Amino acid sequence: MEEQRIWILPDFLVSQIAAGEVVQRPESVVKELVENALDAGATTIAVTVHGGGKRLIHVVDNGCGMSRPDLLLCIQRHATSKLRSLEDLHRIRTLGFRGEALASIAAVSQLEIRTRRAEDAVGWRLLSEPEGEPRVEPYACEKGTQVFVRNLFYNVPARRKFLRSDITEFRLIADMMTRFVLGQPDVRFVFNDERTLLFDVPPGMLQERFAALFGDELAQRMLPVECCVEGLRIWGLIGHPEVSRPSRTHQFLFLNRRWIRHKGLSHAVYTAYEQLLDAGSYPVFVLHIEVDPEEVDVNVHPQKYEVRFEDEQRAFTAMLEAVQGTLRQYHLAPTVAVEFAHAPMTVERTREGEQLLVNRLTGEIVAPARPGLRQESVGGGRGERISAGGGAARHILNRIPAGAELASGLLAPTPAVRCWQIRRTYILWETAEGLRLVDQHVAHERVLYERFRQAWEVEQRLPQRLLLPLPIALSPAERALVEELWESLHAMGFELQRLPSGDYELTAAPADLPSGQEEQTLRELLAAYQEQRPSIAGSVVEWLLATMACKAAVKAGDLLTEAEMQALLQQLQECRLPYVCPHGRPVIVELPWEEVERLFERR
Ligand code: ADP
Ligand code: MG
Repeated sequence: MEEQRIWILPDFLVSQIAAGEVVQRPESVVKELVENALDAGATTIAVTVHGGGKRLIHVVDNGCGMSRPDLLLCIQRHATSKLRSLEDLHRIRTLGFRGEALASIAAVSQLEIRTRRAEDAVGWRLLSEPEGEPRVEPYACEKGTQVFVRNLFYNVPARRKFLRSDITEFRLIADMMTRFVLGQPDVRFVFNDERTLLFDVPPGMLQERFAALFGDELAQRMLPVECCVEGLRIWGLIGHPEVSRPSRTHQFLFLNRRWIRHKGLSHAVYTAYEQLLDAGSYPVFVLHIEVDPEEVDVNVHPQKYEVRFEDEQRAFTAMLEAVQGTLRQYHLAPTVAVEFAHAPMTVERTREGEQLLVNRLTGEIVAPARPGLRQESVGGGRGERISAGGGAARHILNRIPAGAELASGLLAPTPAVRCWQIRRTYILWETAEGLRLVDQHVAHERVLYERFRQAWEVEQRLPQRLLLPLPIALSPAERALVEELWESLHAMGFELQRLPSGDYELTAAPADLPSGQEEQTLRELLAAYQEQRPSIAGSVVEWLLATMACKAAVKAGDLLTEAEMQALLQQLQECRLPYVCPHGRPVIVELPWEEVERLFERR
């Protein structure tokens, strides 16, 4: 007898096997259904999930809807309205095109679809179970489509077993929804977990959406990118280097509105940030790439996350330029090292009449101006620094001209590029690339901030003990603030003693605070805190450090000598992030020579 062992698999089994590729977990069902809604032109899409999507996934859209024959066909394998020919495949603009999703979902769940086209008076409802024939009946419903996916994998226990807890599955779905919200700014998305509304974001700008998902604080630190390079349009948001994250969770790439993974493009972004971020911190970004669909292949993977560009190198270069260009525009791009001369040393005289050699910007006493000067050591490796205390150091008696008198080696002049102070606000000098301007206040703020912060971070505060305790009379309101901030002030290096009279005495101040400014800075800090109160409890100290840097820094209008400017530039150069102040304002700007030449019509 002829034995036949080969047979054609029944459709439902084929679909179930295929379903393994397209539908791996509730998250993939959400993805497919939302993509269908987007392809149908929906402007509002509401997603509700129950039991991490295992019990129910419900997606409602206001898209074009389906006719009765289309409704019957849509759950067949390879049934699609989006693709007819091979040429179509190469210029696909829709998110779906394989015609597999609904068939796969139908093979592993109880599926219900309600749908109505605008032109139809009545809609239709389809009910399907994996092994039976689907039923279609007239149904009164809104224009658009609603899909209910119930009991996913109920008929495939092996798959069900692989699902994670409801919470984990839910989180994966939420991540998926996040990508849609960022990928499709013109569509309203409503997302519910059973009866809890997680978000309802109206159509709008990417920035607003970003804020709705990640909060205003982060959103305000995002820089807009908009750039067309080599036939690619790149737009979106990139994070200020100071809001980098310890992992890659806040990074999103979209190609023609489709969320993608692409090592090369991510690498291009990292390259642009290279010198701005420490190892182990990652930039935040939401970047859209728009390109002619014929130039990319999205058909590499069933889920279409992996894509290939016809010219990968060009895509890399375009992305690098877009991000670099934006960082540069915000003055965050690294500039060439600043040359410098020497520190702004002045001789100051203490109350006792002793002369000290003081760095006028920082208040540091660098070396005794004369032998025999009394020094007070304040522990650690910075013993040479003392404070003249009580504000005496503010009186500058002699200004030492650059390099003169002091050929001690310590202040030996180095070949200097000249620099000028402009409007008592900016420092101007020239480099091989162009004219460079630094905002003196912002630059000093940066320098001080890093010093304060570092001292605080390593917890070697080495507070600068004052020679004489400084009595400070405070109003009742200020006293309350001092008590509230006691720990934080202490952590920063402000050491206060409570006096029986109810007043306070300042016995030490942060080491890098210019001497003579201790009391005033403390008062300004209290006032600023009272006014602005930072919203996040954990960051009070950081806020105070940034504010202190701002208060203690030289101001616009302060006259600086060339030596002082040189020293400031030198200190700036040693900063970890010299290009922005702690509040994100630029420190350095440059007018490139090409621009100058263009202005003079020499090119
Ligand atoms: P694909 O999206 O790859 O075409 P699907 O299996 O996801 O395959 O969907 C099959 C077809 O069903 C689609 O091509 C579309 O015509 C129709 N369809 C699916 N979902 C919707 C919807 N929400 N609104 C209108 N039509 C839909
Ligand atoms: Mg689809």
